Amino acid sequence: MHPNGIDDNPLLTTALEAAVPLHIMNLTQLHPNVRERVRTRWAADGVDEIAYRGDTLQFGSKKRGEAAAAFNALARALAAGAFQPGGITFCGLHWCVDHTECVDAERQASERPSLLDREPEPAKPSGPTWRGRPVTDVMLPEVA
Ligand SMILES: [Zn+2]
Repeated sequence: MHPNGIDDNPLLTTALEAAVPLHIMNLTQLHPNVRERVRTRWAADGVDEIAYRGDTLQFGSKKRGEAAAAFNALARALAAGAFQPGGITFCGLHWCVDHTECVDAERQASERPSLLDREPEPAKPSGPTWRGRPVTDVMLPEVA
């Protein structure tokens, strides 16, 4: 949580708690082929809208309807993400269409060792070496 950040906005999170499930319900009622097209479009529109006007969600806008458009795009994008394996989590809120997949993914992730715990393997030189170091010919400029 960042103080005064987007995740510290109870009005936004409360509105998302209401709006995203409605968009998920709308998507579930579509034929799977149509749903995938709509989800793809909602996700892309949401990314564009948030990239261009995401600040209106935090700070509002003097332009009438601009914050509502950004909010609706965000809510639809989150609904689209809810159909992904593992669902989607935003501002501490989580939406998904099959939570058992989320639980399975969390369990599998917790069972795997962290990449930070592993020592990286040094890259092996592909050419000739001298005392383990790669040997490279360097062309020096000729002196007149
Ligand atoms: Zn879930």
